[in-house]
Amino acid sequence: MSSALVWFRRDLRAYDHAALYHALSCAERVWCVFVFDRDILDPLLARGLTRDRRVDFIQRSIAQLDEILRARGGGLIVRHGRAVEEIPRLAGELGVAEVHYNRDYEPAAIARDQEVQQALAAAGIACHDYKDQVIFDRAEVLNGSGKPYAVFTPYRNTWLATLNEFYLTPYPVERYYARLAKPPTGGVPSLEQLGFAASDLDCARLPPGQDGGQYLLRDFAARIDDYAAQRDYPAKQGPSYLSVHLRFGTISIRQLAGYAVGRMRGRDSEGAKVWLSELIWREFYQMLLWHRPDLPEHCFRREYDALQWDDAPELFAAWCQGRTGYPLVDAAMRQLQQTGYMHNRLRMVTAAFLTKDLGIDWRRGEAWFAEQLLDYDLAANNGGWQWSASTGCDAQPWFRIFNPVTQSQKFDPTGAFIRRYVPELAALPDKYVHAPWQLPAAEQARCGFMPGRDYPLPVVDHAKARLRTLARFEAVAKGGGI
Ligand code: FAD
Repeated sequence: MSSALVWFRRDLRAYDHAALYHALSCAERVWCVFVFDRDILDPLLARGLTRDRRVDFIQRSIAQLDEILRARGGGLIVRHGRAVEEIPRLAGELGVAEVHYNRDYEPAAIARDQEVQQALAAAGIACHDYKDQVIFDRAEVLNGSGKPYAVFTPYRNTWLATLNEFYLTPYPVERYYARLAKPPTGGVPSLEQLGFAASDLDCARLPPGQDGGQYLLRDFAARIDDYAAQRDYPAKQGPSYLSVHLRFGTISIRQLAGYAVGRMRGRDSEGAKVWLSELIWREFYQMLLWHRPDLPEHCFRREYDALQWDDAPELFAAWCQGRTGYPLVDAAMRQLQQTGYMHNRLRMVTAAFLTKDLGIDWRRGEAWFAEQLLDYDLAANNGGWQWSASTGCDAQPWFRIFNPVTQSQKFDPTGAFIRRYVPELAALPDKYVHAPWQLPAAEQARCGFMPGRDYPLPVVDHAKARLRTLARFEAVAKGGGI
């Protein structure tokens, strides 16, 4: 009887799954495995990060996936070890002829997969990888000269022109469920068994697993038509909050893109059109990272590597902790720490603030986000940071510098979001909640609030910081780089 093994990684669902479909359609008996990879988890434990929301989200999603597969006659084999050793070992123990998995585009994952492929090849076991987490991957969308796009809009236009029903068709996994094999040993390890503890993951707002993804999609479906109008206001429930599900594959990108396309056609929905564009940004950055594996260390435009950033450990700490004295920046940074999520507009504002107001290297901010974000994704995070720092592909021009106060007045006009995360400003009138240091003395007495005592004074003067940033970039430009 032919048999195969499916290795689940960032595709934690049992429907519309490329690798699972291909394995089930070509082998008579199919096992499924997930590895809690020590190469990823041990460094977290070594740093004492035992209450990691992502590990918590994954563990819950894995438990749900196991349950779903069991209800269909299969189940999940779960290992805790080094994936590069566990996968070849398990494939050998089960005596499978093939291992199937979905592609990852991050440099470390590519290196890991190559190591696994070599070990499997040495054991005479075939290995197959598939596109699953994007509609178009690697070199499927290229410009007229056969090169990767370096500007988003033409990439999106070609992406949309290439799209047809074929790319949106779900993999009919359910047709073959009867071929799922029962795991020889059962059970999903608890967080404690993995060396972790329960985190403060808010499962009511961000429910895990494929059921959680479907729940959030249903919730967003009622709001998607307003997405274009609402998405920039952090106090409103504008976006989908699906990023963590896209990150771990607990929802299918074909389902989401297909849903947006259907809504555009059916209702001429502007919201669906703009939202689909965001899904395409995600693929743009995935494609870029695949073509440019140097991006985590280097600027997309290498000449910007010459930028002289400041060290400023105290300013960096103030930014991380939400104590910069700029309320919108601080509210955003506290939202990140308290929930693991940050609204897109605020990711842009805080990243611009770190690089252009504090003069700190984008790589330090990127690393902080990588640690804190539940939806952390190397390609999107790096793309977002390099866009904000003006060092990236199709980035914000360096002379266009966000003003943290006017951003606040524009996108949180009544200060509703600020008041939620910076309660010490709750009593301030709308007019001053964006710049509390301007509160007149009479108002201070009335509100029982004193700038500098009850909330930090601004750690930098924006107007002066702006001039320093312009000079910083001009110095590189004079060197002939820009
Ligand atoms: P929605 O507005 O509902 O968008 C739907 C989906 O489209 C998102 O879930 C995401 O997968 C994708 N998307 C939306 N905007 C972008 C974008 N600008 N770039 C790439 N994909 C996008 N996104 C991550 O998923 N992980 C990250 O680590 C990440 N880091 C970022 C860092 C910075 C500095 C910036 C400026 C942006 C970053 N983003 C990141 C992109 C974006 O902020 C988030 O995807 C979005 O806020 C997630 O919320 P949502 O699911 O409600 O988004």
